[in-house]
Amino acid sequence: MMKVYIQTDIEGVAGVTFFDRHEDTISNYHHRQRMRRLLTQEVNAAVKASFDKGADVVLVNDNHGNSYNILFEELDSRCEILHGRASTQPFWLQDIDDGFDIMVLVGMHAMGGTEGANLPHSKWILNDGEIYLSEASMAAAIAGYYGVKTVFVSGDDHITQEVADKVPGIVTGVVKKALGPYFARSKMPHAAQNIIYEGVCKGIEKQKDIEPYILKAPFSLNLLESEGHIPPFEKILDEDIKGDDLVDVFKRTLDSFPWNNFGMKHVDGFRYLGT
Ligand SMILES: [Zn+2]
Repeated sequence: MMKVYIQTDIEGVAGVTFFDRHEDTISNYHHRQRMRRLLTQEVNAAVKASFDKGADVVLVNDNHGNSYNILFEELDSRCEILHGRASTQPFWLQDIDDGFDIMVLVGMHAMGGTEGANLPHSKWILNDGEIYLSEASMAAAIAGYYGVKTVFVSGDDHITQEVADKVPGIVTGVVKKALGPYFARSKMPHAAQNIIYEGVCKGIEKQKDIEPYILKAPFSLNLLESEGHIPPFEKILDEDIKGDDLVDVFKRTLDSFPWNNFGMKHVDGFRYLGT
């Protein structure tokens, strides 16, 4: 029985070179749909590789922005997907547990402030700078907490390098070379999908040579962000969240962010609980 968890984002997909523009115009709609299709196709390449290498269960997490990006009806019918309208609730890596064997990271972007990277943002700061983590390496650390090995990461040349430095032996798929925050030299879609397919196959084949990425307690966690993703980056929370259990600390940190806790708030202008 092999279970694969595919964590996804959109900024590291080949062809994506700038952030979603939220103005509701026809041209933005078409652009977003194109980027979502490219994401969906890269995810499909990872799903196919997982099943071709013997996976019994593949769970995809649609984790960018509002958590409803992947074109559901175009996804490989053998997998399942986590998606909705409250991206980090109830948990960023919903349903991950020690029953999974493999974590795969698709469409990842570099942490905030990374010089020369494409669409860098979010920088987890652990123990006041003892270690910095991108969203990708944080996902690998959460997976590692459950004993799940992260065997593959795709994105630009910066994020793949950061994750490879932290997770020895991981297979990387560089689908674009970053030439600045909003500019890149991208592989064509089929070439990028092939890089991901081959990379996931290789990662699963060599899983015995890769250790789960495990961070050592105690933990004091915060997130560095900045207005418009431009430096300087500052701590989001006035006080770090502390503890010895990574997932507990991580969950409490997520719950502390002003943009989370959708449960009792308005989503898309509607109240979640009918009153
Ligand atoms: Zn994203």
